[in-house]
Amino acid sequence: MDRYHHFIAGRWVDPVSGEWFDTFDPSTGAVLASLPRGSAVDIDHAVDAAGVAFTTWGFYDAVERGRLLMRVSQRILENLERLAYLESTDTGKPLTQARADVTIAARYFEFYAGAADKFGGSTIPVPGTFLDYTLREPLGVVANIIPWNYPLQIGARAIAAPLAVGNTVVLKPAEEASLSVLELAQMVRDVGIPEGVVNVVAGLGDEAGAPLAAHPKIQHLTFTGSLAVGRKVARSAADTIVPVTLELGGKSPHVVFATADLERAVPIIVRSFLQNAGQTCSAGSRILVEASIKRTLVERLVDALTSVRIGPGTSDPDLGPIISPKQKARVEHYVELAQSRGARAYAGITPPIGSGYYVSPMILDAVEPDSPVFHEEIFGPVASVTPFSSEAEALTLANATEYGLVAAIWTQDVGQAHRMARRVHAGQVFINSYGAGGGVEMPFGGYGHSGYGREKGWEALYHYTQVKNVAVYTGP
Ligand code: NAD
Repeated sequence: MDRYHHFIAGRWVDPVSGEWFDTFDPSTGAVLASLPRGSAVDIDHAVDAAGVAFTTWGFYDAVERGRLLMRVSQRILENLERLAYLESTDTGKPLTQARADVTIAARYFEFYAGAADKFGGSTIPVPGTFLDYTLREPLGVVANIIPWNYPLQIGARAIAAPLAVGNTVVLKPAEEASLSVLELAQMVRDVGIPEGVVNVVAGLGDEAGAPLAAHPKIQHLTFTGSLAVGRKVARSAADTIVPVTLELGGKSPHVVFATADLERAVPIIVRSFLQNAGQTCSAGSRILVEASIKRTLVERLVDALTSVRIGPGTSDPDLGPIISPKQKARVEHYVELAQSRGARAYAGITPPIGSGYYVSPMILDAVEPDSPVFHEEIFGPVASVTPFSSEAEALTLANATEYGLVAAIWTQDVGQAHRMARRVHAGQVFINSYGAGGGVEMPFGGYGHSGYGREKGWEALYHYTQVKNVAVYTGP
């Protein structure tokens, strides 16, 4: 078992509390490592280190920042197998999915390396003899609080995008899965990015996350996680007048019309709610289907679930365990609730017996639109099915939850596809697909309670900079 430390000012640092806590392998329930129990004092040290580092990193040539970020990308790929194994053990996700996460993490650094010397301001025509232009300036120290479902992927974008435009970072990973992010911080340092540019403080939400969100010396906060904690951190940031990007999950629909190509749709839909055991903010967990094809679709989905391989992440199954006993109980609660409200549950396969946190993949058929299971994030390998009988009803159901992260429209009617894409409340819409590569290049974020602000792609860089207008009088 390994004992980890905070990564502050380019060094491994003991927690000031002198306390550590255990983190577990969800595939076996065994203790995997011990993590430092961060507190407000550790956060102070990290924010101070990031503040000092900003005085140099904030003024690096953009081309040099880009070159250094590209080296991080290469370093991640050189360590692909090691990082994938670590991520799989820490989160329980199948090795193939963990490898994909490592590749996407590398791609974030590659993408933002390329963006560093291309992102800038503009010139603006104004009346009179003026040269008017804008500068896109870094904010300073930016804070990121991230969850346990995709630590390396989310950690990579939480570092690469702000660094590209000259910010420095303090990151608080989730207590359930922090290991790959701590390793990533070391890699950033190893390629020559100065000490203090990236700092990682591990610990519990209330003890390390809350003081980071409320810190008076941060200039931006990005939070990914639950709606309840999102509200708390946004309230703290309101006190310090710090802009916030919130990514709070979803209840994303697949809208399947009668003309849909089910050969293509079924495996993609299944993957969208099984990937990472359904613990994905953008999981396609709410299947809305035209009544005339509902029976066929449900039969095919249930059939697909019977061949799912389940087991420890490192044995590379299709489906690994849930992250923790708490989250497993939550998934089971929602399945029971759905059944008590009249839904029919079709389980795919029986989970292995042992101390890992496994649940069966499941289709909940005939979920009523007024059921909590229709509205609330389950965060497990479970999808609900609800029929509709017209395009108008499909749209009403698609937009019926308070979330609005992702939506997929399955139809052969091109007009219908675009009508739905315009009207559906979601930050990302896929037509006859779900996902397009790793999603690094595409702006990502939600409508409604899915949050605000955008991560990924070029769009994220607007959030990590502030604009300054300069007007120069050029003479009569
Ligand atoms: P959470 O919101 O409690 O944890 C996310 C992060 O916030 C972690 O790093 C945690 O330490 C930190 N945190 C917790 N309390 C905090 C506080 N008071 N101040 C600052 N930071 C704090 O999420 P959870 O309990 O791990 O999961 C609960 C539910 O949240 C899940 O079932 C799922 O529905 C949702 N969730 C969504 C995402 C997503 O990607 N949007 C990720 C994880 C969980």
